[in-house]
Amino acid sequence: MQKLLDSLKAGQVLVADGAMGTMLFKRGLKPGDCPEKMNLEHPEALEEIAYLYLNAGADIIQTNTFGGSPLKLSQYALEDKTEAINIAGVRAARRAIDASAYLSASCGPSGRLLKPYGDTEPDVVRQGFERQLRAISGEGVELICIETMTDLAEAVLAVQAAKAVAPHIPVAATMTFDETPRGFFTVMGTTVEKAAEGLAAAGADVIGSNCGNGIENMIKIAAEFKQHTSKPLLIQSNAGLPQMQGDTLQYPESPEFTADRCRALLELGVSIIGGCCGTTPAHTAAIRRVVDEFNRTRSD
Ligand SMILES: [Zn+2]
Repeated sequence: MQKLLDSLKAGQVLVADGAMGTMLFKRGLKPGDCPEKMNLEHPEALEEIAYLYLNAGADIIQTNTFGGSPLKLSQYALEDKTEAINIAGVRAARRAIDASAYLSASCGPSGRLLKPYGDTEPDVVRQGFERQLRAISGEGVELICIETMTDLAEAVLAVQAAKAVAPHIPVAATMTFDETPRGFFTVMGTTVEKAAEGLAAAGADVIGSNCGNGIENMIKIAAEFKQHTSKPLLIQSNAGLPQMQGDTLQYPESPEFTADRCRALLELGVSIIGGCCGTTPAHTAAIRRVVDEFNRTRSD
């Protein structure tokens, strides 16, 4: 398989997988449980999820290690299991996909607020990410995906941690924005322009946005990124904003709707398109069809 960054440089568009949480809840995860504990207790569930997304046509499969930093795991008194949880997450996905897709290690926020907004020292956060990513890189992955970040300072620490412990592994870094009357901002106040500049300066190879928005807002966010960066873009939108139906959350955007709108992302030059909360293997399969069509017309 061609190296991931080489594929992107050659102009190929890649499809990333969809939601993890939704799939875990269907396989026994209870609200309030640590999702990453499933790596130790039900690795077969993670293998199955990776396999479903692979079969749906994803080129990039994510590990269930989003909350695998020791600071985040400490919320469940599981920080001592940092290495075991991350290693089990990588191995489960690898067993399912072998070499038929790129394996991407998910790395989400630490759950702590950095000084001066909170009480956590930047070094503590960075060392936590280093510990998580050292365990992951020892297993071998093709990408580290730092995602759902809202504090640019924390995202930068995570990128720096990745580059320190695994300089040979490409790093993607994506942030989550909210629409306001004055434009898109993360909850910590970062604009798309500042994110693009800050993530690239920290050394991220791929940048972009995931979560928090349905695909129509993501088209606007991608267009704004394009004005401020020449880095490859990664966009993973939610299946819209969740609505309560009875006592369950439903996401309104269908696979067909998502796939239809993702043509606009392709026209903007987005390099990797996947899904976030509420998306399923059916969304991945629908995106796959549109991306295949696009890759074909471009190679004609
Ligand atoms: Zn999400």
